[in-house]
Amino acid sequence: MASNLAFIGLGNMGGPMAANLVKAGYGVKGFDLSPESCEAATANGVTVVAGAVDAVKDADVVVTMLPAGKHVISVWKEITAAVQPGTLLIDCSTIDVDSARQAHVLAKEASCLSLDAPVSGGTGGAAAGTLTFMVGGAAEAFARGEAVLQKMGKKIVHCGDAGAGQAAKICNNMILGITMAGVCEAFVLGEKLGLSHQALFDVASTSSGQCWSINTYCPVPGPVPTSPANNGYKPGFAAALMLKDLKLSQEAAGAAGATTEMGAHAADLYERFSALGHGGDDFSGLINFLREKR
Ligand code: NAD
Repeated sequence: MASNLAFIGLGNMGGPMAANLVKAGYGVKGFDLSPESCEAATANGVTVVAGAVDAVKDADVVVTMLPAGKHVISVWKEITAAVQPGTLLIDCSTIDVDSARQAHVLAKEASCLSLDAPVSGGTGGAAAGTLTFMVGGAAEAFARGEAVLQKMGKKIVHCGDAGAGQAAKICNNMILGITMAGVCEAFVLGEKLGLSHQALFDVASTSSGQCWSINTYCPVPGPVPTSPANNGYKPGFAAALMLKDLKLSQEAAGAAGATTEMGAHAADLYERFSALGHGGDDFSGLINFLREKR
């Protein structure tokens, strides 16, 4: 079992993930640029140090959970110059596939093993230790990392080689963005046709329209009491993060030559919704934007 862990990026997701590693009995050294995040991590038993290099120099496994590709590349350049050869580096951030592959190259040049392991499950899943990890990297790296990931998640899927975890993540979230837009449009149409929310839910959630966006995360208040629609569309999963993931899938589709017209349309809807100042709303709040006549 790995004994010395380092965790860089102790924000909304990384903070609770690092706390679960401490609870599992690992010694965790952590670093974040934000003093508030460092304070919260210290309260959860993480040994916060002065910089990323201090955190990683004795670690056998390093986890990063950062905002975007440029942050991951910058931190991985710093830490690959400081870690011991053979260290396993795991990036759990949601980033573009190209940066993920570049990070694997940095690790290889430093004789380290590496995984891209983005997550689904949100801050609730991070706190409860029930995240799903989508993992890309060599079999040897996966074999070493799996036990650590299991302490932060309940489903760990090895999707393939370098970058495959990020590829799975953006494909999954493109489905989510498209299905949510479709479910919102169906409720708006149902309203115009005089159909109650409950009636449409009772039919669609048990028929061929069923999907996570309606069954678990229904965008109107009432049918699913735990969905953000019942809580003023407080996230949950913010529209700005959905937009980020849809843009990543569009970038990847452009580079790979895939036709993803529905994904492009969903990205455009979330762009316009966010531009009106709703980036901080839950992404199911798109229904309020779709109700407006344009
Ligand atoms: P966050 O902004 O709360 O946390 C990111 C942290 O990284 C911040 O605390 C920031 O200070 C720190 N940071 C940035 N640059 C740094 C550096 N050079 N060195 C050290 N620390 C640095 O974001 P989050 O919600 O925790 O999301 C992290 C990643 O997880 C993102 O890629 C996001 O897309 C992904 N994600 C988020 C959710 C969610 O629901 N929040 C769900 C799934 C995936």
